[in-house]
Amino acid sequence: MLGVEQLGLFAAPRRLFTCTPSKLGSYEDCPRRYRYTYVDRPAPPKGPPWAHNSLGASVHTALKNWYSLEPDRRRPEALPTLLKATWVREGYRDEEQELQVYRRALAWLESYIDGLDPTDEPVGVERTVAARTDTLALSGRVDRIDDRGDELVIVDYKTGRGGVSEDDARGSRALALYAIATARVFRKPCRRVELHHLPTGTVAAFDHTEASLDRHLRRAEETAADITADTEFPARVGPQCSWCDYRKTCPEGSSSTPRDPWTAVE
Ligand code: SF4
Repeated sequence: MLGVEQLGLFAAPRRLFTCTPSKLGSYEDCPRRYRYTYVDRPAPPKGPPWAHNSLGASVHTALKNWYSLEPDRRRPEALPTLLKATWVREGYRDEEQELQVYRRALAWLESYIDGLDPTDEPVGVERTVAARTDTLALSGRVDRIDDRGDELVIVDYKTGRGGVSEDDARGSRALALYAIATARVFRKPCRRVELHHLPTGTVAAFDHTEASLDRHLRRAEETAADITADTEFPARVGPQCSWCDYRKTCPEGSSSTPRDPWTAVE
């Protein structure tokens, strides 16, 4: 007859790997950068802030605050106040460039909200969702979760110079994991993911299946297993080194071409 220990009744629960999609993505891009960001303590110093990150954060916050207005106040006239209130000033070359970028961002927002119904109430705006698997405790913050009848839809805002494609939406691990977590949190199907590219006003969408979501989840679990087993955290040198916050710390990446903090908004 089996004892309780053999039955596993008192076995220590398996420790889950706590992660966000960006944590997993950081390791997949470069294990060394992952080590600098999440393992080394104290963390090595980062380079200066990037203007494109400031721009992205400013636009995201303005859209978040747009939805916190009463529907009858969601009008284009509200946008300059919203954008100014949370504008992030770091990383720009000078005030002239910052002002140019502010005007550009405002134009993107005006054009974007022109296509929105102000009475639509998303079920989530900058909403944190979480889910567990046998090995992962996943969480992440979704830009917007729309309720479109029978299903929920993940909306992710993009402000980079490059456009967005269906392949980007299909291949995005983060969006797939958000969809999985959102379906679990709200107990409603969530398979469609959308990238909304504000500079061009384009939307790239993909409708996941159970199988495609499951593939993303399996890959996330594999990455988590790789991270757990890694002791070397090798450098992955490539074009991304020029944009890496730890370029000056990393011996392998330090010879990459440096970029000015404002290069990506010029
Ligand atoms: S500089 Fe390059 S190799 Fe070094 S941590 Fe950054 S991305 Fe990785």
